[in-house]
Parts: sequence; structure tokens; C-alpha cells
Amino acid sequence: MEQLNENWEAVIGLEIHAQLATQSKIFSGAATAYGAEPNTQACAVDLGLPGVLPVLNEEAVKMGVKFGLAINAQIAPYSVFARKNYFYPDLPKGYQISQFELPIVGNGHLDIEVDGANKRIGVTRAHLEEDAGKSLHENFHGMSGIDLNRAGTPLLEIVSEPDMRSAKEAVAYMKKMHELVRYLGICDGNMQEGSFRCDANVSVRPKGQDKFGIRAEIKNINSFRFVEKAINHEIERQIELIENGGEVVQETRLYDANKDETRSMRGKEEANDYRYFPDPDLLPVEITDAFKAQIKAQLPELPDAKKQRFKEQYGLDDENAVILTSSRQLADYFEALVQQSGCEAKLCANWVSGELLGALNKADLDIADSPVSSERLAGLLKRINDDTISGKIAKQVFELMWQSESSADDIIDEKGLKQITDTGAIEAVIDRIIADNSKQIEQYLAGNEKVFGFFVGQVMREMQGKANPAEVNKMLKAKLK
Ligand code: ADP
Ligand code: MG
Repeated sequence: MEQLNENWEAVIGLEIHAQLATQSKIFSGAATAYGAEPNTQACAVDLGLPGVLPVLNEEAVKMGVKFGLAINAQIAPYSVFARKNYFYPDLPKGYQISQFELPIVGNGHLDIEVDGANKRIGVTRAHLEEDAGKSLHENFHGMSGIDLNRAGTPLLEIVSEPDMRSAKEAVAYMKKMHELVRYLGICDGNMQEGSFRCDANVSVRPKGQDKFGIRAEIKNINSFRFVEKAINHEIERQIELIENGGEVVQETRLYDANKDETRSMRGKEEANDYRYFPDPDLLPVEITDAFKAQIKAQLPELPDAKKQRFKEQYGLDDENAVILTSSRQLADYFEALVQQSGCEAKLCANWVSGELLGALNKADLDIADSPVSSERLAGLLKRINDDTISGKIAKQVFELMWQSESSADDIIDEKGLKQITDTGAIEAVIDRIIADNSKQIEQYLAGNEKVFGFFVGQVMREMQGKANPAEVNKMLKAKLK
């Protein structure tokens, strides 16, 4: 479904809403924690009651600036909050406090990689705003309920340039943004809970034409898979429409994941429909150079830089570098493991991206909740490194570590898994197996090399996998000459 029609080119711009990970709301002291009983986390300010005034949460400003610095954007020395006026039941004030003409973050960019090629995507702006409440339609006997817990939750809206040319690029951009905001610690990135979602603006134009086509905006997409599907659908719909003599109208559409289609929601509203005006209750935000410098000093190492460093410092290949830097916690875990185990980085990388991530995925756990800490895993890798156990036995030990709190050494002792390097013991087993399998010996001596594997397997089985594999190979080779 990638290039849908070779005569057409898609143009895509994304507006991403990242919920900022502040403890309290952007203009009030009410909590932002997810999952509370409806309407228990909305105070007078969030409810828009008369006689109360909004007070800007400094933490939200810091997070916005942090983000701006991370995408090499201009940070506005002076920005202003504006009222965006519209009526909706989940918006009791009748307006949303947002930023319009003077957003806090100006032009910046983010580099993505698609099919091995790098591309720079422009970010037009990012502004601070408050979220609205939520309408609830279930269990209200044909009526709707309103939950205002989310009202006033701080959002950073990140608006891209229309620089993307395929759904694949849009997904790569969204994933990269998702990784970035989590690295910065400004958003938990939880897409199921709506902490990170996007609107996709899509248009098509004949290949070679400079002018953009008319766009439709698909609202509120909350998974990477849906972004890809929704955009591809929309591209296809628009091409078909135009080729059949129709015209795309500028409108807001909704992606229906169940039916896998987009459908019209409402005509496109213009900025002037919202009667934006500066909010008289809030002072302009002034960002000094000193404030900026202070935040810059707190920026963590960013994903691209970390990836590059992992390749250089640890000699990782691109795939492992990408996997191990996909989150800060995972990268930290890996680096701690290298240090604590004293093993080669490659062994550590393979264990983290293989066994550990596999087990975490299966248990649907985050690295932060891993039952096996880097210290414990280091204890296991040390025993592979000093030949106490083979890599294969290590996987068994790992499984037991996953289910208990025991150290690798305790498990190895308890289960008697220590590798047998005693050549006498191995030799005795080999001799017995050779004696018992004269037919296979004949085959091997007649030139069937594959039978060698059969003997290795038999010896290992007899010794419950505990024989040193290198030793078994060496001795078998010598005996079967
Ligand atoms: P609005 O204020 O109506 O949301 P903007 O001009 O701010 O409109 O653009 C919103 C998003 O739409 C941006 O991400 C922008 O890159 C994108 N966009 C603008 N024009 C087009 C187009 N013709 N095709 C696809 N995306 C577009
Ligand atoms: Mg928009």
C-alpha cells in the first residue's frame, strides 16, 4: 500500500499533542494523574467558575522550552496565551486557553530515517495549551456524561511543516517525536491513555506539481499503526475522488479503526471562527537567556547522539544501537550491565535485545519493571564469560532468575548446572556413545559429515547440556578420525 499511484504524490503534515508530565494542571493546582474517579480532579479554575484566576504552571513552561531546545528551535523570548473560543459540553469556560500568534517554540526540526535514507522534517511551531474534558457515552441511558478531570491538563501541540511524502515517513516522524519526548521526560508517551496523539493533514498533488492540493485533517489518531492506515486510506480516497472528476474539500475527518476508513466529521473551521484574542487573565511569558541556559544544561543526551556513541564506544551494529537506545531506561540498563559484568559489550547487547527484551515483551512489561535487574543479569553473564556455563544453559538459568529472586550463582549451584570440563568424564560418555552407535560411525567414516552433529547431540543429551561444547567437539573430532 505504500506508493498508491505513481502519478500522484502525497503531502502530509502532523499536529502532535503531547501531554506534559506535570504533577498538576497548567493553570491550577488540581492533579493530573490518570484514571481517577470522574470529576474528582477538576477544581474551580478547571470548571471555569467565576471569581477564580488561572496561574501558569512553571513546570509546563520549562518542559516546553526543553522540547524547543531539543529540536534546535527558536525559543520565543516573549509569548502570549490566547483564548480559542468554541462551544462544547466538555469545555465549560467556552474557550480553551492556547497560544496563537506568539507560541513559545518557533521553527525547529527533527531528522528521521526511512528505508536507510535520512530526511529532515521541519517543525513550524510548538505551543502550550490546556486539554478539554471528556464526554462519556456509555452507561448514561441515551444521554452523555461529562468528566472534567482532563480539563486543564497541559499539552504541547507540535505542528510540523507539510514535509512528509508518505504514511511511512509520517510514522517515522511520529515515532521519533515519541522517543524524544520520553527521553526528555516531558511526556509519558502512553498512547492508550491519550498522552500522545496526533492529527494528520493529508493532501495529494500530481507528481511534479509545486502547488499543494487541498487537505483533509484526520483527527485524534492514537496509535502508530492507525496513523499509517488512516493516512494511506485518505491518500487513496483523495486520488480516487479526483480521478473520478471530484474535488477534495477542506474538512475534518475521523478515522474509524473498526471499519478501517475515514469519514467526514465537520467542515474545516478557520482560525477566525475561533475569535482568538490574548487572555487578559494571564501575563505574557518572558524567557530570559539565563532561564534558557539553565534548561539547556539539564538536557539529557538525546537519542541520535546516544545511538552514535553506542556504535563508537561499544562497537554495536546499527540494529542493536537502534534497539538499545529506543528508551533512556533501556540504554541505561545496557550501560550498567556492561559495567557490572565486565563482559564484552556485544555479549551484553545480545542478551538485552534478545532474551531480556523478549521476556519483557512476552510479559508486557517495561524495562523499568524488569524482574531481572542489570546486577543480576551481570551475575549470569559473568558465568558465561568464565565458562562456568554455556550460553544455552544460561538461557535456562535466566528463565529461573525471571521467576525468582535468586542470583545466577545460586541457581547454578542449586540445580547443578555447572559446566563439566572434566575431560575424563566427557571422554567416558563419548566412548560409550561411540560403542552404542556403530551404524552412525560407519556413515560418518563413509563421508557423511552431518552425522557428527548427531554425536554432539547425544553427548550433550547424556550430560544434560552441561558439557563444555568446545571440549566435546574437540574430543569427538579426535576420536572419530
Ligand atoms: P490549521 O491552523 O488550520 O490547523 P495550519 O496551517 O496550522 O492549519 O496547518 C496545520 C497542519 O497542516 C500543519 O502540520 C501543516 O504542515 C499541514 N498542512 C498545511 N497545508 C497542507 C497541505 N496542503 N497538505 C498537507 N498538509 C498540510
Ligand atoms: Mg489544525
